[in-house]
Amino acid sequence: MKKFIRSKFLIPISDKIGRATRIKDGYVLFEGEKILEVGAFNEELGRNLLERYPNHIEVVGNNNKTARSLDDFIRLEGVLLPGFIKAHGHDHESPLIGIVKDAPLTEWLDGAVNIFGKFMQENQKQLADTLGIRPHLATYLKARVDDIYYGITSSMVHHCNYNKYYVGDIVEANEIAGTNMIVAVGSQDRHYYDAILDSPQDAVKRLDENVERFGKLTRTRVVPGPDQFFSNGPDLLKALKGWADKNSSLIHIHSSEEFNTTEWFKKEYGMTPVEYGMKLGFLGPNTVLAHQVQCTKRDLEILKDTQTKIVHNPLANTILGSGIPPVIEMLESGIDVVISTDGSGSADSQNILAAARLASQYQKAFHQNARLMPAQKIMEMITIEPAKLLGINAGSLECGKDADMVFMDTTRPNLTPSKINNVLENLIWASDGSEARYVIAGGKVVKDNYQFTTLDMSKVNEQVQQLSEMFEDYREEQLKLKGTGAHC
Ligand SMILES: [Zn+2]
Repeated sequence: MKKFIRSKFLIPISDKIGRATRIKDGYVLFEGEKILEVGAFNEELGRNLLERYPNHIEVVGNNNKTARSLDDFIRLEGVLLPGFIKAHGHDHESPLIGIVKDAPLTEWLDGAVNIFGKFMQENQKQLADTLGIRPHLATYLKARVDDIYYGITSSMVHHCNYNKYYVGDIVEANEIAGTNMIVAVGSQDRHYYDAILDSPQDAVKRLDENVERFGKLTRTRVVPGPDQFFSNGPDLLKALKGWADKNSSLIHIHSSEEFNTTEWFKKEYGMTPVEYGMKLGFLGPNTVLAHQVQCTKRDLEILKDTQTKIVHNPLANTILGSGIPPVIEMLESGIDVVISTDGSGSADSQNILAAARLASQYQKAFHQNARLMPAQKIMEMITIEPAKLLGINAGSLECGKDADMVFMDTTRPNLTPSKINNVLENLIWASDGSEARYVIAGGKVVKDNYQFTTLDMSKVNEQVQQLSEMFEDYREEQLKLKGTGAHC
């Protein structure tokens, strides 16, 4: 059975027809996981589709009814785009919204993220009994709800700290949700709880085992994701980069996220984290750094020369008071930069359109130049650009790409009036992110007229609410002890 969706506006963001092309009354035909056709709809085309595929096309937005006449190809009032791609996030943070706010990064890590990881690890059995589900799986499923809610169909999840032991659970959550995921499996050999420190052999073995287990999946990929330069010493980083090069894989890490850790590198090694990464041979076209907020001129040169990629997370960087990376200078020097949300704990939301808006708004104000980072460019930085950076066959609506798309309802008051010449701008500047009415991932309608089809949203929310309440008591006890001094 083929599937069809028709929309008042269609923005394919495709290099084949020009990224800025906007189509009035557009349609997409898809089958299985792939897109078959994209273009402008008209009656002749509709008749032609009915002739070619009699009783063989289901219409999204028309109760998935089988098309038998032209009238069945109803046109939805809104805009159809490629599904959004989140290049850096942490699904394990989904229960951590609103905890330790108005505090800097290390205080937030010590008071929320690190304690939460320990809480989950120590209380697994009791939590599973109470919740009726493995607690890690519950948090990962909640993150899938959050992504689909905002129209995100692909993500690279940085699976840090204790979560490295739960790759099976996150893969299961992704497979249930139907989204596309790269799991960057964490590691650390210093500056963290002793119990989870790795040797290089441990970390490499973990990757090999997970690739062995999940390597055949088409919508989930496993790559190395050492937590951050601060918590990963030279031997471990070299071993993981070696693994990535040998397996033609990406490698992902946090870099220069906040001032104090960057300063620590200068004192300890006499170099910046980027210089440290370069010295170890860790940088390169397959290396993706999250943040890179503190960035010297020399760092920019190194990043450019090594073709290292950057994921900018403005929500987290501003909420935690970390600063903002020199995005304009990075783009001008030819460094690939994309925009993401980071985890729910630091960003407090997976609204990727809000992240894109903030990225642009900050640079316009900082440089006193309204022309910088226009809506078209930042929309590309959450679709086609991260698709290229991460090697994902999506981010554009064109024949042969994965059928990953989002339909945004433009009849909402905040998006009215929308026209062909301002609809993309409205999404960036006026949407609240919740207008994602249909979300299609790998050809599956995972959000159908605002209803989740692969996930039980109410149940998932209820479980995570309960988990969060149990965590609160534990957290208060732990905080009476002392800070962990650890960083994720
Ligand atoms: Zn992060």
